[in-house]
Amino acid sequence: MSHPHPELQKPPRLPKNGLRVVGLGGLGEIGRNMTVFEHHGKLLIVDCGVLFPEEHQPGIDVILPDFSWIRDRLDSVVGLVLTHGHEDHIGGVPYLLRERADIPVIGSRLTLALIREKLKEHRIVPKLHEVAEGDRKPYGPFDLEFLAVNHSIPDGLAVGIRTSAGTVLHTGDFKMDQFPLDRRITDLRGFARLGEEGVDLFLTDSTNAEVPGFTMSERDLAPAIEQVFRTAPRRIIVSSFASHVHRIQQVLDTSHAHGRKVAFVGRSMVRNMGVAQELGYLKVPKGLIVPLDQLEKLPAHKATLVCTGSQGEPMAALARMANRDHKIRVGEGDTILMASSAVPGNENAISGLINNLSRWGAQVVHKGNAKVHVSGHASAGELVYCYNIVKPRNVMPVHGEWRHLKANAQLAIDTGVPEDHVVIAEDGVVVDLVEGHAKVVGKVRAGNVYVDAQTVGGATEATLKDRRTLAEEGVVTVLAIVDAETGKLADPPDFLVRGFVHEPNAFDPAVQVIEKTLARAAAEGIGDAQQLEQMLSREIGRWAHRAFRRSPLIIPLVIDA
Ligand SMILES: [Zn+2]
Repeated sequence: MSHPHPELQKPPRLPKNGLRVVGLGGLGEIGRNMTVFEHHGKLLIVDCGVLFPEEHQPGIDVILPDFSWIRDRLDSVVGLVLTHGHEDHIGGVPYLLRERADIPVIGSRLTLALIREKLKEHRIVPKLHEVAEGDRKPYGPFDLEFLAVNHSIPDGLAVGIRTSAGTVLHTGDFKMDQFPLDRRITDLRGFARLGEEGVDLFLTDSTNAEVPGFTMSERDLAPAIEQVFRTAPRRIIVSSFASHVHRIQQVLDTSHAHGRKVAFVGRSMVRNMGVAQELGYLKVPKGLIVPLDQLEKLPAHKATLVCTGSQGEPMAALARMANRDHKIRVGEGDTILMASSAVPGNENAISGLINNLSRWGAQVVHKGNAKVHVSGHASAGELVYCYNIVKPRNVMPVHGEWRHLKANAQLAIDTGVPEDHVVIAEDGVVVDLVEGHAKVVGKVRAGNVYVDAQTVGGATEATLKDRRTLAEEGVVTVLAIVDAETGKLADPPDFLVRGFVHEPNAFDPAVQVIEKTLARAAAEGIGDAQQLEQMLSREIGRWAHRAFRRSPLIIPLVIDA
C-alpha cells in the first residue's frame, strides 16, 4: 500500500503515455465525490457532489470540491459523467456549470432527470447526454462504456474508461443486491468481461469496506414494514431520503395493501417522486396518492405520510413536525417509521428528533429497534468478489474516510493484488498510471469550498473558527474612547458581553490592562486605531483567559475622542 505524505509537492508533467487520476473530493471523507482523469491533454470528470456540513461548521449550507486545479483548463473537459443521482455525486454540478455551462453532462435517464430539475432552480440549461447500460461512446481520448449497478437509488452506472494508457473501471456507489425491486442487478458479467480484457486501474466504493459479509437485500425490509402497517393504530408518518425510490415503493405498496392513502410532504420529496413516477421508476396504484389537505380529512388509520428529514435536518418536514412548527401535529397514537440510517455526523440530530417525536406520544420505529433499513453500499464480501472477478492490476479505493479506504485496500491485497499496486490517496493526491503501474506522484490544491447562503467560497476556515468561538465562548465587545493627544482613555471603557457568564464587576481589572496596553502603544508611537485594536484584542484575550479560563471572541472598538 502506498501512503501519501503531507509534504507531497506539485506533480511532474504527465508522461505522454500516462493517465492521471485526481480525486478532488470523496477521498478521506464521505461526500462531495469528484474524480478527474487527464489523458492526452484532455480531462474527464466523474461525479461532482457536495458534502454536508457537520456541527463544527455552523452556518454552512454545503461544502464543494475545490475546482482550482482544473479552473483554467475547463475548456479541456470533454465530459462530466454522473454515476447516479445522489447529492454527494451531483450536488456540485450547478457550481461547476456556472464556470462553464456547456460541459457535456453524461448519465442515465433518472440521473439526468434529477439534475435537470436541480439546474432549473439555478437557471442553467445543461447539455445532457443520456446513456444506458451497455452503451459505449468515446469522449475525446476516453472511450467510455457504461455498466448497470444496483444502489439505493435506481439507474446507477459504473463506468469503464478505455485509454491508450490503460483501462479504468470506476464502480460509482454500488452493492450486489441479487433481488432488487427493479430486477436490475450489478452487471458482474460486464465486470468480468472487462477484467478478461484487462483492467489496469479499479476504483471501488469503500463506504462499507469495514462491514463484513454481504449487504442485505432491499426486499428483506418487507416484514418490518408490514409489521408497522399491521399494528399502527392511527397515522403512519414515514421519513426517507427523497431519492430512495425503491424504499418508498415498498411503503406505497404496503400502504395500498392496508387500504391507506398516501401524501408526499416536503419540496424535494414531492419533486423527486414526481420525476420518478413520470419516468416509470415509481409505480403508483391509481388513486393511492392524494394531496395533503385531502389526506387530512380521512380517518387517521387510513392515512400515510411520506416526508423528508430522516437525517434530522432542522428545516425538513419531520424535524418541523417534532418541533410543532408544521401543520401536521404529531401526537398520541401516531407511528413514525424512520426508514433510513444516520449519515456519519448526524447521529445527535437524529437522536434528538426521536426524543422530540416520542415526547408528543408518537411511537418511533427506527433502525435501532426494527429492521427498517439496509445500506446501499457493498460490504467486504461483495468487494472481495469484485476483486476476484475483475483481477485488476492496480486498485485505488474511493468514496470513504481514511479507515474505509484502508480497509478496502486491505481487501484488494487479500485477494492477491500486489501491495505496491494498491494506492491510498486522499483529496488532491495525484496518481499517475504509467506503463501499467499506478503511483502517487504529487499533490494539488483540494481544500473545502464553503457555500454560505448566497456566497461560494466567501466563508473560510477563519470564519468558521470565529463562529465556533462565538458559540462556545461568547463575545466581549470593548468600546474604548481614546484621547488622540495623550493616547490615554478619555472615558472609562464599556464592556458589552453576550454568551459569557460573569459577575457584575468582573471586567473592572480589564480597565488596567487597557490602560497599560495604551501606554505601551503610546511609548512605541502607535496611534493607528486598527493597530491599537489588534493589541487590545490580544491583551484583553490573554487577561480573560487567565481570569476566567475562557477564550471569548474579543472585539475592541477604538474611537478617537
Ligand atoms: Zn450514492
